[in-house]
Amino acid sequence: MKKIIILGSTGSIGKQTLEIIKKDKNKFKVLLLSTDKNINLISKQIKTFKVKNIVVTNKKKYKILKKKFKKVKIFPDFNKIDKDLKVKADYAMSAISGIEGLRPTLKIIKKTKRIAIANKESIICGWELIQKELKRHKTEFIPVDSEHFSIWSVLKDYHKKDVEKIILTASGGPFLNQKITKDIKPKVATNHPNWKMGKKISIDSATLMNKIFEVIEAKKIFDVELKKFDILIHPKSYVHAIVKFKNGLIKIIAHDTNMKIPISNSIHLGESNQRFIKSKGINISNLNSLNFQKVKSKNFPVINILKKITKKNSLFDTVLVSINDELVNLFLKNKISFLDISSKIRLLINSPIFSKFRHQKPNDLAQIEKLNEFVRLKTRTLSVISQKK
Ligand code: NDP
Ligand code: MG
Repeated sequence: MKKIIILGSTGSIGKQTLEIIKKDKNKFKVLLLSTDKNINLISKQIKTFKVKNIVVTNKKKYKILKKKFKKVKIFPDFNKIDKDLKVKADYAMSAISGIEGLRPTLKIIKKTKRIAIANKESIICGWELIQKELKRHKTEFIPVDSEHFSIWSVLKDYHKKDVEKIILTASGGPFLNQKITKDIKPKVATNHPNWKMGKKISIDSATLMNKIFEVIEAKKIFDVELKKFDILIHPKSYVHAIVKFKNGLIKIIAHDTNMKIPISNSIHLGESNQRFIKSKGINISNLNSLNFQKVKSKNFPVINILKKITKKNSLFDTVLVSINDELVNLFLKNKISFLDISSKIRLLINSPIFSKFRHQKPNDLAQIEKLNEFVRLKTRTLSVISQKK
């Protein structure tokens, strides 16, 4: 039986991972699941998968769940997992949203033989720390963000020196062919035409910030120079990445817009009789009209941030994630407009209090977490003050 851990099991990626496991229930044993506050859903997951270890990070909800399940170990955080979780998992999925996923990801690497990471923020902010832990515990790593899984599945048979160009595709989100007005509500902005995802990543897709993050994520995972990356709009989202090699070959990786494809492949990788998930697939005739377009900065002003990404790994990556996280949060709370996300992020990254981090290397987790708090607080004050003026 494959032993499984899922960080963020009540989220979009977490739920899809459990749906795959449920189809083959007698082949899996779920060791640990986690949520921030969705104790209703995790209660159902405990019963369905007979889980004995649960992390609930929201303090109030932790106390409620602890009273409800006497025979299940309920933890308030990931700090004590080490001692209590005696067996090593075969597979862990890291799918907490935001930079808050970094600490749990680092903790769980030593508890699993393979880790699939969907949580892009932890890769962007803490890749150096993740890499160290992967090496130390000989844990296998697979990226699950669909573009990165596609690139990874191609590049594992090549050397990075053979790569001429890597193109990431972006659907363009809900506003590709629609004028963006000041009064766009969160409900409209989170309504992605091709993917069903959590709120934060849906907003990042609408602004295109998600693609900026994916370039940083890919640069780190594959250790390929920044200048070799490009972004193209591909509204149908059939193609996830295009890799051009110096030997003339171009590999295009396509699959339908179903995250269960990279998730399931990351679970079953290397198995001879892989269990394939049911997916609607791509009608091959649709490949006749793939349609790739250049990104217009008029429609997606955040594309200019590509020029600001640092070549070397620096704390500026955390600054970028944290400013954006806070701005998205303010938008979701109706405190700033959708257009403000793009304009404020471009303004803030140039301010000296943040740009000084371009030249600082990340050292440890505490430093990254402290910086995240500082940047979020500053972003909140600066954005709300300028809003009131
Ligand atoms: P969701 O918002 O749907 O789910 C997030 C999960 O993390 C939930 O289980 C949530 O618990 C938990 N969580 C949120 N905040 C905290 C916290 N502070 N501490 C502990 N747990 C927390 O996100 P998605 O599933 O959409 O995305 C997860 C990650 O995967 C993100 O980093 C995203 O960028 C990445 N990703 C997602 C894709 C997708 O298709 N959804 C595609 C590619 C990458 P609760 O339910 O209680 O809020
Ligand atoms: Mg992606």
